[in-house]
Formats: sequence, structure tokens, C-alpha cells
Amino acid sequence: MNPATGEAVATIAQGTAEEYKSCRAAMDAAKKDWADMPAPKRGEIVRQISNAIREKIEPLGKIIALEMGKIAPEGIGEVQEIVDMCDMAVGLSRGINGQVIPSEREGHTILEQWNPLGHVAVISAFNFPMAVLGWNMALSMICGNCTIWKGAPSTSLCSVALTKVIVDVLKKNDIHPGVFVLCQGDADVGELITSDPGIPLVSFTGSSKVGRRVSEVVHGRFGRTILECSGNAAVVVMPSANLDLALRAVLFGSVGTAGQRCTTSRRLLVHETVYDEFVTKLAGSYKSVPAGNPLEEGTLLGPVHCERAVKEYEAAIKEATEEGGKVLVGGKRMDRPGYYVEPTIVEMPSCTSESMKEETFVPLLYVAKVGSLDEAIAANNSVKQGLSCALFSTDMREVFKWVGPSGSDCGLVNVNAGSSGAEIGGAFGGEKETGGGRESGSNAWQQYMRRSTCTINFTDELPLAQGIKFGGE
Ligand code: NAD
Repeated sequence: MNPATGEAVATIAQGTAEEYKSCRAAMDAAKKDWADMPAPKRGEIVRQISNAIREKIEPLGKIIALEMGKIAPEGIGEVQEIVDMCDMAVGLSRGINGQVIPSEREGHTILEQWNPLGHVAVISAFNFPMAVLGWNMALSMICGNCTIWKGAPSTSLCSVALTKVIVDVLKKNDIHPGVFVLCQGDADVGELITSDPGIPLVSFTGSSKVGRRVSEVVHGRFGRTILECSGNAAVVVMPSANLDLALRAVLFGSVGTAGQRCTTSRRLLVHETVYDEFVTKLAGSYKSVPAGNPLEEGTLLGPVHCERAVKEYEAAIKEATEEGGKVLVGGKRMDRPGYYVEPTIVEMPSCTSESMKEETFVPLLYVAKVGSLDEAIAANNSVKQGLSCALFSTDMREVFKWVGPSGSDCGLVNVNAGSSGAEIGGAFGGEKETGGGRESGSNAWQQYMRRSTCTINFTDELPLAQGIKFGGE
């Protein structure tokens, strides 16, 4: 569906249980050769995938805009993220190294060898219909795994388009097609994946509700997960902040992608001494955001993804006003075809109001006053989710408190930069009901491999660890 019009753009067959079986058989057939190929050679394949995606960056980005509904520059940025991720993975393919550890036994060496897991599954959400695959695929491939992808059913065209680019590169290099397969579908295909004992790692991105189910099924069979679930980012603005900077960051963070990023700014906590000035300016800037077709130049606000999201938007505003919230700007569905809603700010009576505790995946920002950084940190940490957050302050003591052990409990803890728009070099992910997973940069690659700790004896003696004597001597 095109969310800007509410009309169908394509009909896409979804995978069946039989097709899932044939995908898995292809992966099994590809596994050994791919795992045995030297990692830098696998990196070379990922380098070619990166180049192939670069060549098609604009059409791929526009398919995202058409089907998901984010504006084209953001769609193209999403594809750029895959290119960046592949480039980083190419370098890493020469650096997925373990340690050499001193042994307590003479003539012994302990070393870590990182080996492929075998198969990795990626189940992704509609809101980043290509980038999430990119984060996982690039690392999974250089680590020597065969990868199966199931994208969100409402962004099937994105899944098919990106898969074609990847598969073409495999074909050109005579690589077995089972190294990367797509099995589109909804919960039924998802369940086939999560319950499959042949898939040691399931990387899931989506809501905490579905993430909980994925976690139960995969951990129930002692599989591994990377869970990237719901967020509920707070932005804290303190008196020493550069307010212009904070304003721009909050506007992008709350209205960008029509509020449909896991890192979207959903709660704005402003110190009481700058509250009126900041919130009045922000409300003014909300009114001038141009809404329109995501594929047209100049549009900054596209539609939300589907009719259900419009209903959730209306229900969340009703709930907030019933709790004493006051709509400062927006609050209604737009009078135009498709799924457009007005970006909305609701002023809440308290920084821990109940309505603020759930993630509603729409451009709805709750604002509330705080009297101190301690109060803001307590409010930030009071929700079930723990993905992203931001502090605007130039007071060094506040900055270090915010990032330190008694500060924010999120996985992404920003200072004078908004809550959304992470770079791939850092490990991405969050705590609590966000799931605890980490993807993309830093040492996230280690999750796609199994560590073999190898003790190697290069003598004719057999000393036991801890000096234990066992018979004989
Ligand atoms: P969703 O949970 O509805 O669906 C996610 C994926 O799970 C889809 O592919 C869906 O088909 C699949 N699925 C559904 N039931 C399943 C089951 N029983 N077993 C296995 N798979 C199943 O999420 P959504 O609406 O597509 O995406 C929005 C959510 O994703 C938001 O909560 C957002 O915060 C979250 N998200 C998180 C991150 C992150 O990195 N933390 C990134 C993007 C999106």
C-alpha cells in the first residue's frame, strides 16, 4: 500500500511453510563452503554488495518512501546506512580476531577462535524496511553465516527489491544462493523461524509485545536472540542549554519519519525556568512543517504507515487529555487522502503521567516540566523501555551525571544531540523492554559468531589446571 494515498501499489506473494523448507534446505547446502571461505574473501562479496547498493541508492530509497511513507531524503539516507554498514563490515572481515591468553601451565597457550554460528535469521519491522537488514546482513555475512530474512509484510516490496540487488552479486560470483534468502510473510513465517532449532541466532526488530514472544520461543529452545524492540525516548532541556540547538533537535526527533522511529523523541522534559519560552517556540515551529507526498521535494512530513496508526494516534490523544493533558498544537487527522495526522504536542500535568509510558508510534510529543536534573533522570528511567534519550545542557556536572552510573538507563545516551539518528560505528540498542540487543558497530559482530576457547599444549607433559594432581605421580 502507498500510505500517502491509501491505494495498493503491488501484490506480493507471501512465503508458505513449504517455501520456508526449501529456503532452509538451500541454506544447509550452502553452509559449509561459505563458512570455510576466508573471512576477507567473504568481505570482498560484501564490498561488491555495497557497490551494487550504491548504484541503486536513489531508486531503493524511493521505494522505501513509496511503501513505508517516510520522505525520500530519509529513505535514501536509510539505504546509505546499509552502504556504510557494508563498508565497515568489509574492514572488519580482516579484524574479527580473538585474544591470545597467557596460560598458567608451562608449554600451553590459550587462544580464542571465532567461528561462524551457521545460520542467522533477521526478522525486521516496517519502519526501517531496508537498513535493519543491512545492519545484520553485513555482519552475518562476513562472520560466515547463511542469512534468512523476513521483512514486515507491509513493506514486502522493499524486501524484494533489496534482496534482488544482493542476490545478483552472489550470482555474479558463483556463490551458492542459500547464503542469503528471503522468506517474506507475517507471524506464521516468523514462528517457523523462531521455532526452528537449526537457526542458532534470531535477530528481531519490532515491538516489545512481539519481541517477548520471539524471546520466549527462541530461548525456549536455547537459541540466541538480538532483540531490538520498542523505545520511548525522553529529551531533557536544562537552563544552561543552547535552546536553538535543542529546538532543532527536538523538531527532527519528534516530527521526523512522522514519529515512526524507535528513537523518536516522545517525551520532552523541560526545566521550569525555560519551559514557557522553549515550549512556545517549539509549538510555533510545529505549525510550519510542510506535509505532503513523501516523494515530492520540500515535504518534511509524510503519512503514518497505515490506518491502524491513525486510530492509535487518536486513542493516545484521547487518553492523554482524559489524564489532564492539554493539546498545544495539532491533535487531528488531516483532511486529505492517505494516513496523515497533524504532528501534535500535548502538555502533561506531570513528567511521569501514565499516558507517557507507552510507545505510540506516531508524531505525538508529550511535554512536562521538571524542577531538577534528578527529577528528569527519574522520569527518564521510569518507563519500561530503555532505548534512546538526550540531554541538552552545557553544565559539565549535569553532563557527566547524565551519562554516569546514576544517570540515564538507556542504551543510547546523547548530550546536545537529539535522540534519533544514530551512526553505525557505535553499538546500537537498548535496555529493559527494548530487549538488550546491540547491533551494527563496536563489538556487535561477536554476537554473530561462536567463541571457541582453545587450550593448546605444545609439550609432552600433562599438567592439570589449578595444580591438581590426579593419580600417577
Ligand atoms: P511488529 O512487532 O508488529 O513486527 C515486527 C516483525 O515481527 C514483523 O516482521 C512481523 O511480521 C514479525 N512478527 C509478528 N508476529 C511474529 C511472531 N509471532 N513471531 C515472529 N515474528 C513475528 O513491529 P512493527 O509495527 O513492524 O514495527 C514497529 C516497532 O518496531 C516499534 O515498536 C519500534 O520501536 C520497533 N523498532 C525498534 C527498533 C530498535 O532498534 N530498537 C528499530 C526499529 C523499530
